[in-house]
Amino acid sequence: DLVLAEELVRRAGLAVDNARLFRKAQEALKSRDEFLSMASHDLRSPLTSLRLQLHAVRRDLQPGDERKRASEKLVSRVESMERQTDRMLRMMDALLDISQMTAGRLELKRQKVDLVELVRGAVGTLDEELRQNGVQMRVHAEGRVEGEWDRLRLEQVIDNLLSNAVKYGKGQPVDLTVSVDGTTARLVVCDRGVGIAPEDQERLFERFERVRLDRNVGGYGVGLWIVRRVVEAHGGRVSVESRLGEGSSFTVLLPMRGQAPAQPGCAQETG
Ligand code: ADP
Repeated sequence: DLVLAEELVRRAGLAVDNARLFRKAQEALKSRDEFLSMASHDLRSPLTSLRLQLHAVRRDLQPGDERKRASEKLVSRVESMERQTDRMLRMMDALLDISQMTAGRLELKRQKVDLVELVRGAVGTLDEELRQNGVQMRVHAEGRVEGEWDRLRLEQVIDNLLSNAVKYGKGQPVDLTVSVDGTTARLVVCDRGVGIAPEDQERLFERFERVRLDRNVGGYGVGLWIVRRVVEAHGGRVSVESRLGEGSSFTVLLPMRGQAPAQPGCAQETG
């Protein structure tokens, strides 16, 4: 009976859709749990160190015979405590930033920014790390590429893309290209590292998504999500091209002029 057959097919389709939804929900929960366990692990280790240092300070404060040596030790302990608390503060700031961005608040402070200068600056900041890892990072750009952008947010975008290129770049050279295409600025970050399988490429831009849950490579899977949020808030786009085992190339396109918000008030006289 045709009607019955059609009904069965429809129901089977629904069941498949439900199973797919269920699987997606399960995956989302799993990556959230993984994120929470890694984040709490990373918050715990500076805290633990801080607690040990405090214990030692209390011990050193008890008057001993060698006061001078004790006070030198004390200074270095306090310095270490400061470093640990700074680290924690940075992590907390990052978490707060993420939750604010999730809540939909992303206000841009636009000003005139030179993308080439930002990229060179970011490479300069990474200098020590690059040297330690023997990674070559080459910037290909001519002159200035200026736009009305949020400097700090764009620095975040560049930092995330560069640090991924180093993390997943297998120590191979990384090429950064800044160019202009009409009224759009283009930044391409190209590595020759582990690459990303086609089926994983789109979901990397989701929050908490990581392809390799490798504890030796630090991260929470939020970097690319931030990249996309910031780039899209600027009216731009980010995309990836990659081949597994050969490398990845991330392209950021940014309109050089922010869309002017509609001006309230009277019509302008023209001509
Ligand atoms: P993470 O903190 O895990 O690096 P990101 O959001 O920056 O988070 O990236 C998400 C995932 O995308 C990474 O875990 C990694 O699997 C993959 N990925 C990002 N950049 C690259 C790259 N340049 N090469 C290969 N894989 C990458």
